[in-house]
Order: sequence, then structure tokens, then C-alpha cells
Amino acid sequence: MVASNKYARSVIKLIFKRGPLTRSEIMHALKMRQNAIVDVCNDLEAQTLIVREEPDRRRNCKLKLSPQCFIFIGLEHHLTGANFVAVDALGEKLASQSVELPQDQRLDQLLAATEKFILPFKRDSICALGVSDIGLVDPPHETGVFSAHLPGWRDIPLGKAFRERFHYDFFLIDRVDADCFAAHSRNSKSPHIYINIMPDGIGMSLRDPYNFWQRHMPMAGELGHLVAVPNGELCRCGNRGCLETVAGVGAVLERLFQLTGKRLTESEALALAASGDRLCETVLREAGEQMGSILAKVVGILGVGNITMRGTICAGDGVYFAAVRAALFKEVIYPMNRMLAIDSESRSTENSALGAALFARNEYIDRL
Ligand SMILES: [Zn+2]
Repeated sequence: MVASNKYARSVIKLIFKRGPLTRSEIMHALKMRQNAIVDVCNDLEAQTLIVREEPDRRRNCKLKLSPQCFIFIGLEHHLTGANFVAVDALGEKLASQSVELPQDQRLDQLLAATEKFILPFKRDSICALGVSDIGLVDPPHETGVFSAHLPGWRDIPLGKAFRERFHYDFFLIDRVDADCFAAHSRNSKSPHIYINIMPDGIGMSLRDPYNFWQRHMPMAGELGHLVAVPNGELCRCGNRGCLETVAGVGAVLERLFQLTGKRLTESEALALAASGDRLCETVLREAGEQMGSILAKVVGILGVGNITMRGTICAGDGVYFAAVRAALFKEVIYPMNRMLAIDSESRSTENSALGAALFARNEYIDRL
């Protein structure tokens, strides 16, 4: 839908990157002649692709991208269904929705749910679709490679299916990368390791100031399936003793069930530990120590000392996060242990969908 000529696309790209600009600022930045810029801006305004920040002001008025003309849809596909978020050109959230989906014919279910979510939007105002998929993804081939949790989810041609159905530009991104993409825009620009502990898995995203590592190395960041206990418990991936089997949410709750006979939720286990329940405290501490020990190896290999852990189990200063921290600082080599900074935060359930939408928006504008 976007603009006809390359100058128009350059103007759109510039306003996207720098924010609202006057015609004269655009002219200087793009080194265009004055009459050329007048023609291009008049044309873009006539198409309502760009609009004036203050509609009544005639001179030196800043121009911005029209929120209604640039809509980006983000989808997170997870074990029990999908989350959707729509954002405008400025990255502001326009709508969001969560749906539960059956596991049978999951791809068809996802396409149908997407169709429903985009129904209220004008079809040609949607520019691109970003999908963050469960499990391993292969972004260059737009394929969902494998999920250890969702039966049958293997080599799914997501790009082909979504492009054929919707005819929008399509961008695939790892679920943890998408989540951290949304978070990183608020954080520092320095290299950063993000660890996500979700109810259905443990993931890692590595960001440098300009990009994320998994973008070109799709198999990277499978932290949950690094072996923490050789020949330990059988993991859903088919290997034994993966970190998920000792430090994941499911593993912690299963261990508590074996010990107490009670099926606790994540929040109940955390609350019990916080109130001094010795058993919950020990199980969470031991899980956190396993996580910290693996994390120390990651830091030793990558040499990146800024870490954010995200998820309910590690949010705040509970026993799990304290144990991660203690094991990490104990095992990391000097002087790296003096330079480490680790914090934790909870994550919103729709963050991956938001990150996928923002990723699609950045990629789309970049390629104009
Ligand atoms: Zn595994």
C-alpha cells in the first residue's frame, strides 16, 4: 500500500526513524530540492500517509506518519492458544486479544483466529504481520521448526501459509526474542542476556546494541535444553536432565507434588516459600541454583554481564532469584563476577505478541 516512488518511501522511513519532522528538516536530512520535497509531501498528505501534528498550523508544522495507515499485527503462538496485538506506526497499541485454541489442526486454527482478529481493521491499512512461534523457529525459511511441548509441531511452513491467506508482508521471530524485543527498547543499549522462565519453558535472548543473536543463528538460545544433570529426568525434547527438568516452573511444581501430594500453582508455591514454608523454599532454592550454575557457563562463554530474568518465578527478590544470583556470582570467573549486573522482572502475557508486532513494523519500514 505504501508509497509510489522512492523519495516518498525515503520520507516515510526518515519520519519513522526520527519522529515527526518539518518539511525543511526533511529537505535537509534527505538533501532534496525544495520543489521536490513540496511535491512529495503534498502527495503523501493527499494520500493521508502522513499527517500534520497540528492540523491548523500552516508554517513549520511537523509531519508524522498517519496512525490509521500503518497497522502492524503481532501474534504469539503458545501451547494453549494465541495472543494478538495490533500497533500503529508509532508503536502504540491499538487492540489486543487472547484466544484458546485446540491442538488439533493448530495451523488452521491460528489462521482462522488471525482472520477474526484483523476483521475490524481496514484491510489495506495493515502493512505486515509478525509471528512469534512456540519452540524453535527458522526465520530465514519462515518455518516453525520444532516444539518439544506441542505434539506434531514440526517443520510448519508458517510464512507460506500466512502469506497465501493474508497477502501481507510476513516476519517470523523467536518467542523469547519477540518478548525481549519489546522489553529491550526500554533498556540500555549495551549487550544484554535475557532469560525468560515461562510456564511452558525456559528461553534465552541475546541482544547486542543493534540486533539479536538468534536472528541469524536460529538454534541459539535453547537454554532450557542444556543438560544440567547428566542422565537425569527424561525431558520432553527426548534428552535427559535438561535445565527445564530441574529449574523450570513445571519441574518445581512436579517436585512439590511428589513431596506433598498437592498440586500447587506457581503463585501458591511462591507465596508459601515467602511465608517461610521450608519445603517450598528448599525446592525453589535448589531449582534456582541449577539455573544460576548454567547461567554462569553462558556468561563465561559469551562474556556478557548484563542479565535480566523475566517471569513470575524469578520476579522480585524471592528465594528462586536469590539462589540464581548466589550460584551465578559463585561460579563466574574473576573479574567477570565483579562486573555482573543481574535483575529480574515479571512479564506481561501479551509481550511476545507486542514484540512480534514491533519487530514486523521495524523490518517493514527498514525495507521500504
Ligand atoms: Zn530438553
